[in-house]
Amino acid sequence: MTPKSAAAAARSTVYGYPRQGQDRELKKAIEGYWKGRVTAEALRATAAGLRRANGQALAEAGIDEVPTGDFSYYDHVLDTTAMVGAIPRRHRAAVEADALDGYFAMARGTQDAPPLEMTKWFDTNYHYLVPELGPDTVFSADSAKQVAELKEALALGLTARPVLVGPVTYLLLAKPAPGVPAGFDPLTLLDRLLPVYAEVLADLRAAGAEWVQLDEPALVQDRTPAELNAAERAYRDLGALPDRPKLLVASYFDRLGEALPVLAKAPVEGLALDFTEAAAANLEALAAVGGLPGKRLVAGVVNGRNVWVNDLSKSLATLGTLLGLAGRVDVAASCSLLHVPLDTTPERDIEPQILRWLAFARQKTAEIVTLAKGLARGTDAITAELAANRADLASRTGSPITRDPAVRARAEAVTDADARRAQSYPERAAAQRAHLGLPLLPTTTIGSFPQTGEVRTARADLRAGRIDTAGYEERIRAEIQEVISFQEKTGLDVLVHGEAERNDMVQYFAEQLTGYLATQHGWVQSYGTRCVRPPILAGDISRPEPMTVRWTTYAQSLSDRPVKGMLTGPVTMLAWSFVRDDQPLGDTARQVALALRDEVNDLEAAGTSVIQVDEPALRETLPLRAADRPAYLAWATEAFRLTTAGVRPKTQIHTHMCYAEFGDIVRAIDDLDADVISLEAARSHMQVARELATHGYPREAGPGVYDIHSPRVPSAEEAAELLRTGLKAIPAERLWVNPDCGLKTRAWPETRASLENLVAAARTVRGELR
Ligand code: GLN
Ligand code: ZN
Repeated sequence: MTPKSAAAAARSTVYGYPRQGQDRELKKAIEGYWKGRVTAEALRATAAGLRRANGQALAEAGIDEVPTGDFSYYDHVLDTTAMVGAIPRRHRAAVEADALDGYFAMARGTQDAPPLEMTKWFDTNYHYLVPELGPDTVFSADSAKQVAELKEALALGLTARPVLVGPVTYLLLAKPAPGVPAGFDPLTLLDRLLPVYAEVLADLRAAGAEWVQLDEPALVQDRTPAELNAAERAYRDLGALPDRPKLLVASYFDRLGEALPVLAKAPVEGLALDFTEAAAANLEALAAVGGLPGKRLVAGVVNGRNVWVNDLSKSLATLGTLLGLAGRVDVAASCSLLHVPLDTTPERDIEPQILRWLAFARQKTAEIVTLAKGLARGTDAITAELAANRADLASRTGSPITRDPAVRARAEAVTDADARRAQSYPERAAAQRAHLGLPLLPTTTIGSFPQTGEVRTARADLRAGRIDTAGYEERIRAEIQEVISFQEKTGLDVLVHGEAERNDMVQYFAEQLTGYLATQHGWVQSYGTRCVRPPILAGDISRPEPMTVRWTTYAQSLSDRPVKGMLTGPVTMLAWSFVRDDQPLGDTARQVALALRDEVNDLEAAGTSVIQVDEPALRETLPLRAADRPAYLAWATEAFRLTTAGVRPKTQIHTHMCYAEFGDIVRAIDDLDADVISLEAARSHMQVARELATHGYPREAGPGVYDIHSPRVPSAEEAAELLRTGLKAIPAERLWVNPDCGLKTRAWPETRASLENLVAAARTVRGELR
């Protein structure tokens, strides 16, 4: 191996491509199929057309080796569950009756069989369906989908590489099936699973696969020696198979760390590593193991999960360093391009100059091809591309959007005191008690009320010019009036305006902040057929004018009870956007926090005495490796405090988070220094209340007593029982009564009934306290 021959062999590839099509054709076909308007045959034809278009687009762009099997009707982890035959018992009959309907039954549930649980794919906003395994699980290979999609691509004359979720990651992502003891470790099934992978690999080999990629992103997380040992065994066994394709084991989203030496020694032919944010750590670890002599190294130098144009010279430098470390170096995106929108070209609302700073899947593909060309033939072969890239990067760096001196000066002048409230929590709590005069066990909601068809129509009418702003605002005010009068009648203690004016809790603010860009077509799959268009946090952030004050004050004008001001917190504003990559996240968070701080202060000045700053994303952005978490939590909690610390002691700051497991961040939650926190708890029967108590959490808290993820109406007695359970962990003086989360996705009838029961429960339990 010489660096020169390694360079000459450089090829370009990707691990996956957006599945939905430019106009979300796949989503439309699938949803049509669910409604009975599209036949199975038509759906299959749409899917095949999209796969063909993707494969051909990649090949035409110059990608040497295209992925197959990355297509999915719903989720690639669910596809893996089907491939290894781990169908939950409750769905087996449906799958046997009809594979496609059974597949969707696992994803979405049926009247009598709940779906598989859904959760976030590592630290992305993509959700996968969690495999359910137990000691009785019997695996069986079904390679049909993988083989068919490979053959499709080969028939088009493409060089194709099937991509599978690797066996170790598959097991590490699984959970004990219902009824299986929680202590069951799915990894104990490895020896049963490997023969199934062996069979699939043999089928793919027979179908013409030279290489197969096995994705093992779970190996970039902290792993125990037993887990690393499982990885070693898995690849020793798969590597030892007699008739198999060459194996490429892929990692992404972070550094491989202690898993790198394990994989480097494994008898596989190639490794794929992330050289974006994890570049330095992976480079160092690669050098430490003496490189990958004779092996294929796929270098993910183009960020597969963010939207910025690549710095080609910098990537070439990284690639150059890698040349001495492997038999062959290929160029790729750091992860599947599933996580970015398809194409910047149709964006009309973004200035052409600014659009050139952005690279979606199609643009990233071109970058990868250019880099592979530059690596194989030298930079002289890509002079024009390098010059254009330098110009685009310079235009971004020099733009007033990127750098606003006033924003920077303000962020630099922030002191510790700015992020600290004037009085300690106990002093504030007393002031707030006197000021607000709330009863014991105060009742409230999380913010949004049902988004009715009328509100959505009004928003569509405004966009289409069928009504003007005044007409739209009239509709919103009518909605607020209804929400306030319902809450008064029902007897809630702290009211909300209902968030009718918000399409989405991040987008609503992004649209009003300077420094954010919005796309028209930038759809990204969130789960199944649900796609989102994350805003792009492109430059320095400022708030030209108040964003929520007029709605909150209007709502307050209708009632004598306190109305909560509702804001989305800085961490969530970052987590559900594409963030800038040219400064530390903490710096960006601080700018967003300062803009939100102005909003908080304006709300207070307008007479709002309770302000809630939602941070549902605080936990999901937690870095994958424990070593990186303290730094993250430090800037994240500082940003929250900077947002909220400017108010008087008697103004009550609430926050809200929605997930049931958060033992590992209780300390950070306390560090937010909020006065009240509301949390999801109904399904876990107040587990969070116990966790808060265990950690000695000293503040007021509202563990949810109404599961809003289901149309089911909890009875007053049921809610009261949850409150009594809550009281065992949190004293009455600090316990709030509220639902798990916002009511946006619920309908009015069940919302009405549930909140009436919630208030009744609070009254009953208050009575018992006397
Ligand atoms: N205030 C928001 C709402 O009620 C909170 C949503 C969330 O936590 N995801 O909709
Ligand atoms: Zn929530």
